[in-house]
Amino acid sequence: MSNLTVRNGRLVLPDGVRTGSITVTDGRISAIGGHAPVTGRVVEAGGAYVLPGLIDSHVHFRTPGLTGKEEWLTGSMAAAAGGVTTVADMPNTVPPLFTPEDAYAKAELIEGRSLVDYRFHLGVHPDDPGGLRAFTPREGTTAKVFLCGHHTAPHVMRNAERLRETFAIAREVGLRLVVHAEDSGVFALLDAWRGQPVSYREYEPARPRSGAIVAVARLIELCQEFGTQVHVLHVSTAEEADLLAAAGSAGLPVSFEVTGHHLSFEDRDVDRLGARIRLSPAIRGAGDRERLWKAVTSGEAATLGSDHAPHAQADKLLPAAEAPPGLPGTQELVHSVWTGLRRRDPEGSPDDHARLIARVLADGPARLLGLTARKGRLEVGLDGDLVLFDPDENWTLDRTAVATKVGWSAYEGWTFTGRVRTTIRRGEISYDRGVFGTPSGQWLEGAPHEFPGRGNGAASGFQRLDQPE
Ligand SMILES: [Zn+2]
Repeated sequence: MSNLTVRNGRLVLPDGVRTGSITVTDGRISAIGGHAPVTGRVVEAGGAYVLPGLIDSHVHFRTPGLTGKEEWLTGSMAAAAGGVTTVADMPNTVPPLFTPEDAYAKAELIEGRSLVDYRFHLGVHPDDPGGLRAFTPREGTTAKVFLCGHHTAPHVMRNAERLRETFAIAREVGLRLVVHAEDSGVFALLDAWRGQPVSYREYEPARPRSGAIVAVARLIELCQEFGTQVHVLHVSTAEEADLLAAAGSAGLPVSFEVTGHHLSFEDRDVDRLGARIRLSPAIRGAGDRERLWKAVTSGEAATLGSDHAPHAQADKLLPAAEAPPGLPGTQELVHSVWTGLRRRDPEGSPDDHARLIARVLADGPARLLGLTARKGRLEVGLDGDLVLFDPDENWTLDRTAVATKVGWSAYEGWTFTGRVRTTIRRGEISYDRGVFGTPSGQWLEGAPHEFPGRGNGAASGFQRLDQPE
């Protein structure tokens, strides 16, 4: 079972890129190098990169209760087509994941329907953060706090006392908080003054940077006071990136995520793409996008996530004030980021870019989720999760290639550079050039108390790109 050898790949290893073979025995990496013994099925890489299986630590696969928007199976197909072998799913489902029983019920629904391995981010009840004490690391080691809500995220923590309690409890039980950091009070104030946005162009001014910056500043203060581990999701502005980088370098246990769409789009794209890039947090301007790229290439950002949050096209076409924020993105994530890296720095070393992808899309998320004993690196003994990535293929995304249930993408018509050819999860092929494997993904055990590094790439074994080798 699950024996396989990949030959002739450019192996993206923790200490550099080397050409050679990699062997998987019983689902685990058993040999790496030029003379790795051949066992089981042989896959010819033909000089493609072999990356560690990618980990998308921010998806909404809509199970349970919102399966009109996405099925776990189709979400996991989109992920596999994007080189992803593990996801961490968000708790804002119907019902939400507020108890250990909710986690087991959710796992039962997913069993036999997933092309990827998975973990769950636990939900924090806004009126009763004490519910977090009931969880063990089996169910989750990260808990999601929404400081701002929207159509599919109604459980918002608005009470400052409850938020302090959440920080205290998370510290006490060893949970890391993953936070949607926008201040709902700021937005409510603006809406009451100016009214709801009636066009997509008015959406960003109604959900401005001030809401995000205020929330991040408060999280940093709480982090100082309680010492709780905090990972800020989908950072969208230059100011947030500056504050979080500064807090990290001051020694606070904070880290942050950047999404593929905040790297790919900017405010002027709103006229063309409208509802498709109505997102929460909103898409910002060119200067913010530039700062986010710097956060990724310099090693300040610990993880990249897709925030894969699909909605049916009919929902997205509702009037601007009613259209729900979110887009599908797990399939597009590595493709958009690789394309961005190569276009922005065409003279840059592709090997360095491949190592950067391995850091922010495999090693960093593995640390975030407490999975480093099994995932995140090409290393003997770890799970045989591999991605064959052709760095030079140019291809255009059209609707027929979109795997998510909703069948649309904000990237339709984009010509990408680089393409996932084959995705291998624990030695099984889960995706190969448009063909999907068996949905035998597993609910993973996580270890608590791992820290993703304060944006310091060197700590994870991967050099920062801005540091000399
Ligand atoms: Zn999200």
